[in-house]
Formats: sequence, structure tokens, C-alpha cells
Amino acid sequence: MKIENMTVVGAGIMGNGIAHVAALAGRRVTLVDTDPAALERALATISANMDRQVKKEVISPQDKEAALGRIVTTTSLEEGVQGAQIVVEAVPENVELKASVFGILDRAAPPEAILASNTSSISITRLGSFTRRPAKVIGMHFMNPVPVLKLVEVIRGLATDDETTRAVMELAVELGKTPVEVNDAPGFVANRILMPMINEAVFALQEGVATPEAIDTVMKLGMSHPMGPLALADLIGLDTCLAILEVLHRDLGEDRYRPCPLLRKYVAAGWLGRKTGRGFYRYEG
Ligand code: NAD
Repeated sequence: MKIENMTVVGAGIMGNGIAHVAALAGRRVTLVDTDPAALERALATISANMDRQVKKEVISPQDKEAALGRIVTTTSLEEGVQGAQIVVEAVPENVELKASVFGILDRAAPPEAILASNTSSISITRLGSFTRRPAKVIGMHFMNPVPVLKLVEVIRGLATDDETTRAVMELAVELGKTPVEVNDAPGFVANRILMPMINEAVFALQEGVATPEAIDTVMKLGMSHPMGPLALADLIGLDTCLAILEVLHRDLGEDRYRPCPLLRKYVAAGWLGRKTGRGFYRYEG
């Protein structure tokens, strides 16, 4: 079965990137968000990011117009999943919220539709249990920024079937990505390894070991990382980093995953990183 119709739920940092690559790869995309302003921002971001690709001659202006023409938006989840062959959920990293979204998706989407989640850390097996189709529930974990980074972690829940896994692996390739299949475990592979590093960088900052600039420079120049861990945390969103660390800490039950108090403090202050203009760094505009 070739997947032509995709619905992306949540039009934030990740949802707009997923809609961007899917539309450029010729898919009809319905982008859903309960916040109409988020939908407007998402379309503006997609257009600006495609302009960058036009400038670099990665795509033509005609490719851009055709791709934008394949994206429709709606604030109604029930309406947005009509005719979907796959739904990729990208709402905030909160299990109660995702449970309610998966319940609605299960009731409203066609019975044969695959229900994928872009979750960074929440159990796919658990998300499947909120539906009557756990065999068709899977993780499709894109990386930020989606139009740039090649990896898609494909996560099989306990009940996910081979057909669903195959269809999602194939779709990822058709979207120009490299899928890697992993099993369902807290944080999967990417965040099991990345988040403890980010958390340790925040502890180093909290303890006054060095400034944010110094910590990031050490990791960039010393370890050849393209971005330092604190700048990366700002890009991901500090609320998302905290949510992932809480899943790792609770589900793996080990102190080494304890979220740094300074990270909690920044989130409590609403300093969520780039998306709010302030995190470990300040951002203009
Ligand atoms: P975000 O906060 O930027 O966007 C989430 C969007 O979901 C918002 O626009 C919000 O209005 C919308 N939303 C909230 N409730 C909704 C509902 N019931 N129905 C429809 N839309 C709803 O979040 P994000 O950074 O894009 O993260 C989304 C998911 O992707 C999370 O599970 C996160 O862990 C995961 N993820 C994030 C990153 C990253 O770097 N930010 C990377 C990989 C995966």
C-alpha cells in the first residue's frame, strides 16, 4: 500500500517540519492543531524554510508552490483524519494529552489507518493501549530540524505488526530519510543517550563549572558536535527536554536520569528556549 494521504497532528516545531518534508515528497498533508495561530505560524515557517531550500537550489520555486498546495489545515481532529492512511501525532510530550488524542484518532480515523507518534520518549506500547488497533500503532520519531536531519527512529511497540513497520520504514525512505528500527524502551535510542548529556551540561552550568558559551564550545570543538548541548536544548525546547528526562527517570528508575533542578527552574519561568525567545541563550525576533 503506497501512502499518499498523511495527517499530522500538532503544528509546532516538529509538526511543521514533518508536513514540510511530506508535502515536498508529494504527499497530501492535512495539518491539524487546536490553536489556529499555530497553524498560521506553521504555514509561514514552512514557506520560509522552503525559500531557504529554493535559494540553495535544493528545490525549485515550482516545487515549493506545488508542495504548499498539497497542505491543508484544520483545527478539528475528527475532520482532519478523514481519508488518512497514516496519522503522525506531534502534540506536546505529555502522556495524558497523547492518550486523549490517540483515543480520538482511533475513533475518527479510517480503521485501516496507521497511527504513528513522533514522541521522544513515551512508550509506544502504552500509546497503543489507548486504541483498539495496537498492531497499527508505531513510533515515527523525526529529528529536529526535520527538513535537515536524515534520521527517523522507527519504534515497534509490543503489539506493532510487521506490515505496519514495513509501511512506515518505506514511507520514511520515500520522504528522503534513513529509518532505523528500534524496540520500545524509555527514550528509545536517541534520547536515552542524548538527554543524559544535555542534563549533565545543565548540572555543570548549575554548579558554576563554566558559562553556557564555554560548555557548548568545549563540546563543539572538543567532540566535533555541530551544536553544544545547551544550544541544542534551546532548539529542542526545555519543556520537551524536561518531559523526556522525567520519563527516563520514572520508567528506568535510576537516579542518574534525575532532571537537573536548574532545568526545572527555567521551565517554571517559561524560559523554554528558542520558541519563547529565551532559554540558556537569548533569541531575537
Ligand atoms: P510544540 O510545543 O512545538 O508543538 C506542539 C503543538 O501541538 C502546538 O502547536 C500545540 O498547539 C499543538 N497541540 C496541543 N494539543 C493539541 C491537540 N489536542 N490536538 C492538536 N494539536 C495540539 O512541540 P514539538 O517540539 O513540536 O514536539 C511535539 C512532539 O515531538 C513531542 O512528543 C516531542 O517530544 C516530539 N519531538 C520533539 C523534538 C524537538 O526537538 N522539539 C524532536 C523530536 C521529537
